[in-house]
Amino acid sequence: MELLKQKIMKEGIVLSGQVLKVDSFLNHQMDPQLMMEMGREFARRFANEGVNRILTIESSGIAPAIMTALVMEVPMIFARKQKSLTLRDDIYVQEVFSFTKQEKNEITIAKKFIKPGDRVLIIDDFLAHGEAAFGLARIAEQAGAVVAGIGIVIEKSFQQGADKLSAAGYRVESLARIASLDNNEVRFVEE
Ligand code: 5GP
Repeated sequence: MELLKQKIMKEGIVLSGQVLKVDSFLNHQMDPQLMMEMGREFARRFANEGVNRILTIESSGIAPAIMTALVMEVPMIFARKQKSLTLRDDIYVQEVFSFTKQEKNEITIAKKFIKPGDRVLIIDDFLAHGEAAFGLARIAEQAGAVVAGIGIVIEKSFQQGADKLSAAGYRVESLARIASLDNNEVRFVEE
């Protein structure tokens, strides 16, 4: 998505450790027009997948996910991150490791919001090692739902997440694919 790539080139900051900071339009301040365009683009790409639920994870996935849900006219659910949980039988739980924060979280969704046979589109802001996306996919499948696709705003293609998700049979669509952040410079995958 050209608009997004331009925004990344203009405002993205490469941090050490192969992390891209985009807090001026995605991770802190948010650009609603750009979010809406991203929602339209995800909706277009997954138009034929029979999606009836959008699933994301708090907090930065929520904005692109709600825009996609708005365009597709379906509900959006965000998984909550929690440090430790008391055992409850009204929620689904999966463990997700965050490489950027170097911590383990449990992500949860109330059972009442996702049902067997649902066709779920997973949306997230970044794809790195695939931990968050796999966690969301496992939660959807735990509920008996089908993962209709995975939509990512920024994929870091030099990390393993996209390959692992594709190898597991998921359809992954990323709006910007980054080939490298070496030398503090953003280089996109040639498409
Ligand atoms: P994964 O679970 O695929 O390893 O990492 C994806 C999650 O980690 C995303 O939900 C995002 O919050 C965070 N993340 C991973 N890499 C980056 C990055 O380069 N920049 C930012 N801002 N977040 C990232």
